[in-house]
Amino acid sequence: REYIWSKKVAEYVLKEDSQSIEYIIYLLERLRRNIDIKILIVDDSRFYRKIITDLLQIHQYQTVEAANGDEALEMLNLHSDIVMVITDYNMPEMNGFEFVKKIRATHNRDKLSIIGLSTEGSANLSAQFIKSGANDFLNKPFSNEEFYCRITQAVVMMENIQRILDLSNKDPLTNLYNRRFFFESAYKMLASAKRNQITINVGMLDIDFFKKVNDTYGHDIGDEVIKHLADTLTNRFRDTDVVARFGGEEFCVLTVNMDKDRTFAVFNELRKNIEASKLTIDGQTLQYTVSIGVCCHTLDSIEDMIKQADLMLYEAKESGRNRVIVAQET
Ligand code: GH3
Ligand code: MG
Ligand code: MG
Repeated sequence: REYIWSKKVAEYVLKEDSQSIEYIIYLLERLRRNIDIKILIVDDSRFYRKIITDLLQIHQYQTVEAANGDEALEMLNLHSDIVMVITDYNMPEMNGFEFVKKIRATHNRDKLSIIGLSTEGSANLSAQFIKSGANDFLNKPFSNEEFYCRITQAVVMMENIQRILDLSNKDPLTNLYNRRFFFESAYKMLASAKRNQITINVGMLDIDFFKKVNDTYGHDIGDEVIKHLADTLTNRFRDTDVVARFGGEEFCVLTVNMDKDRTFAVFNELRKNIEASKLTIDGQTLQYTVSIGVCCHTLDSIEDMIKQADLMLYEAKESGRNRVIVAQET
């Protein structure tokens, strides 16, 4: 075992039974997924940084390095896709605990996993690391086998949390946020908008004559149209906006800091793009339109803003569909 691990291997599996094969398949799938995972290694010792980087690269992870806490915080800002930090305790300027506490002020455990490395000969740092906000720890020196176990475990934990969050926050057909998540983030965004005196806007969208799409082309093609609209919305709005499927063929978008003219322009351009899109699904070509109602002045509650946007959507439908109506400030 020691001999094999002294070579650069990703894993060491004894050929025992069919479970060994299943494990290898699982492992290959794991390694394939690791390609998208970026890990930051923080250690003032270039020697340890190199050891850890090499190990991680064998498991296909993307790696970035920092020699101290300040450099690492800079890296975290620069690479917003870092999902794990492996950090040493003993570092100049800022020790591992201080560094972990600083990260935790802005990054929670569900999105960023931290693994502390205790300094050689002082294994009892591990509890302090975890209390400071680390997810796990490793005593130096560690075996390659233990290193991989810890890293994989932390990665799987994060993926599971993400899966649970997605199940509760997202709509499975479109992968957009659902109504529940929309309200959860909208309450926060409205409160923060009021504090910072910026406006937020709520747009309600509904596909025109969607029943006819289903009746003419069938429910499955109807689903594809819903997905097309979802993708169009995702591409149009920014990550800071909230795009949600409210139900059926009805969507809600919350955007920040746009005046009335700009809001109208954005939604109207979206409407025109959809009108101009020719979808080919299962050999059938079809087009569809949407009606949009918008509230772009901040009201007391999100519910009031949605009510306003809904009223405008109703007007858009009544006055002929395929149009955007923005509420007048009262
Ligand atoms: P309007 O222009 O007034 O909005 O007319 P409409 O036909 O779009 O409105 P209506 O709300 O009467 O019809 C919506 C239809 O959407 C009815 C329902 O069967 C269909 N629908 C709801 N959810 C889904 C879904 O997930 N997939 C598909 N394919 N159809 C759905
Ligand atoms: Mg409709
Ligand atoms: Mg409807």
